[in-house]
Amino acid sequence: MTTALRDRTRASRLKMPRPVVRVAVPSPLRRVFDYWAPGGQAPPGAGMRVTIPFGKTRRIGVVLGVAETSALDPSRLRPVIDVIDEDPCLPGASLALLEWAAGYYHHPIGEVIFGALPTLLRRGRPAKLQRMLRWRVTAAGHRAEPPSRAPRQAALLTFLRNCQEAVGAEMLAAQAPGWARAIRALQERGWVEAVDTPCLPGGDASRGMSLALSPAQQRAVDRITDGLGQFHSTVLEGVTGSGKTEVYLQAIQQVVAHGRQALLLIPEIGLTPQMVERFRRRFDFPVAVLHSGLNDSERLCAWLMAREGTAPVVIGTRSAVFVPLKHPGIILVDEEHDLSYKQQDGFRYSARDLAVVRAHQEAVPVVLGSATPSLESLHNLAGGRYQRIRLPERIQGRPHPALRIVDVRGRPLVAGCSPALLSAIAAALGKEQQTLLFLNRRGFAPATMCHDCGWVAHCQRCDAHLTFHRASNRLRCHHCGAERVMVDACPECGSKELRNLGSGTERLEAALADSFPHARVVRVDRDSTRRKGAMEAVINAVHAGETEILIGTQMLAKGHHFPNVTLVGVVDADGGLFSTDFRAAERLAQLIVQVAGRAGRGAQPGEVLIQTHHPEHPLLRALLEQGYARFAAEALDERRQASLPPYVCMALLRAEAPRREAAVAFLEEAAELVRDAAGDRVQVLGPVPAPMERRAGRSRAQLLMQATKRSSLHQMLDDWLPRLEDLRTARRVRWSLDVDPLEMA
Ligand code: ADP
Ligand code: ZN
Ligand code: ZN
Repeated sequence: MTTALRDRTRASRLKMPRPVVRVAVPSPLRRVFDYWAPGGQAPPGAGMRVTIPFGKTRRIGVVLGVAETSALDPSRLRPVIDVIDEDPCLPGASLALLEWAAGYYHHPIGEVIFGALPTLLRRGRPAKLQRMLRWRVTAAGHRAEPPSRAPRQAALLTFLRNCQEAVGAEMLAAQAPGWARAIRALQERGWVEAVDTPCLPGGDASRGMSLALSPAQQRAVDRITDGLGQFHSTVLEGVTGSGKTEVYLQAIQQVVAHGRQALLLIPEIGLTPQMVERFRRRFDFPVAVLHSGLNDSERLCAWLMAREGTAPVVIGTRSAVFVPLKHPGIILVDEEHDLSYKQQDGFRYSARDLAVVRAHQEAVPVVLGSATPSLESLHNLAGGRYQRIRLPERIQGRPHPALRIVDVRGRPLVAGCSPALLSAIAAALGKEQQTLLFLNRRGFAPATMCHDCGWVAHCQRCDAHLTFHRASNRLRCHHCGAERVMVDACPECGSKELRNLGSGTERLEAALADSFPHARVVRVDRDSTRRKGAMEAVINAVHAGETEILIGTQMLAKGHHFPNVTLVGVVDADGGLFSTDFRAAERLAQLIVQVAGRAGRGAQPGEVLIQTHHPEHPLLRALLEQGYARFAAEALDERRQASLPPYVCMALLRAEAPRREAAVAFLEEAAELVRDAAGDRVQVLGPVPAPMERRAGRSRAQLLMQATKRSSLHQMLDDWLPRLEDLRTARRVRWSLDVDPLEMA
């Protein structure tokens, strides 16, 4: 049941003398708000933005519909102040998806809708594409001598000469303060001209060509594009390097040839400039890209071009699943197993799952691509809800990388590297091939301890150790962000004998630079790539052969294509083997396969070394000896026996408060209400403390609800949430509901 529906059933509604407009307003209240339609004109239609009085302020809201009744007394209704849009800002199909999502995830409809609008539209900017002025150098400008007495003009002229394309105002402003006057002067001299361009450039297909598909790729494209114009759901299970992206490209090409649009979702770290470039080179038409790095006007432009159908291809991360499309033709989700598709705070939706819902609503095919499909998708395949297409071989018959377990028990380790791994690195260096080492822990050392008294550096606000970062000489908490300068003596006993325990990427980098003084070592993690453009610089250096050893966290695990990497090392596989999270095994297996997929993508075959203290662990054995598909089948079987997702559906209620008792008291009442609302159709587990109980100074606890039937769970949530909101104990905690949670922490 949608929020709007639930709201309607809460109280009896009265027939009104004038039309009532139902408006979604960005507010944590789980309801829609009624207003009188403005007098003397037709009431605004669904999807239009309106200005409304809200308490003592004015807000912008989005009309959900017009009604003849209201639960409010006529004397309490106020009129809409102003209608902003002439045509719906959000088309009906988008509203339908957003209302569905608000209902399913039980999140306030106003926040859901406003979260899906570009910032400028939230502020009331017209929803119209604006053309943009850009500037470029004229032929005369190329010949001219830069004016030495006007340094600003000279600098701008030189800058523009080096640009391939005309440049917009934002980029000029970043180049030179006071650019507008300088540009005008250059225009008057005839050296620079302004051009009026659409806000998004077209593609340039002259620079890239379609590849001749392998027979397996051809079959995949045929099956995906067979039955355009109707819903079907496909899992494209292709090993790393099997050419999935090429399948997307050619399927999209066909969809566009039919006059329809394609939406491609990419995980956060998969959306690299290389990926976008590959698309822009292939197509002659504009490719709109939506990601967090855009400024407000770029985002508005991409969003409007998608809505107006002038961008036939839209590529974006999670939130792009809500972008309106005028002529939807296909939705594709790359690396569908990736965690970044699930939003972990606020409106906790899964873009992967919503992509399937949306495809169904809009009657278009959806493709979920991965080398390591999630157990959820494999379960849907087994149930016949999805069709499967396999690309079992790498392109051009390149061999799969060889996976080998390295038993590190009792071995001397250098920053976590065993002798076997070190000698494999030396061998790769000898053959002038590149090595990629994977370690999912940034910083120098994950703990610092006093050798004399055993004191350990703890975060004051979390149940966690502080990580030592050597480059900045600081101790940092990776959970709440607290940091302080590294101590030079033990605060307990004054000893100077402080030891760094364990290794992170910083230490690994230092140790390898020591062991291989002639090799160039590069580290890629959130610390080393914080600067804009830093990640790109690393990738270019790897391609140019300017680095021999690459060290990285999961940022490096996915999507990259480094043809000269032949050796991949997983420095520490143990963390994933003994986690309390039931999804840890699935994650570790996916990660190992993805990292391994970086090896041997070029002419030379690849080798993957996985270091562990548990070489006989059944998960590792199944994965290595029988592959991901076999591993996944066994993991699914275990989930079924243990009654875990995808065999049951879950919702998690989290609560946090400065004092533990407040969080627990609220959750206990909540649990009572669940039992009351659902009896034994919904199982309640908890309240229990969260896996990390204290974080950022607050005590955290949670309540897990699960049911074998999705409908039982959702019926319960519908009844239960309004009662939960009314609890007195709710006011003393911060709480949130997570439907289909992926992380139990
Ligand atoms: P995946 O997305 O499955 O990892 P990609 O689509 O990135 O694979 O393809 C891996 C590499 O193989 C890329 O360099 C790509 O250009 C190349 N490739 C893909 N399909 C073909 C083809 N049909 N013929 C030649 N090369 C191909
Ligand atoms: Zn001490
Ligand atoms: Zn902390």
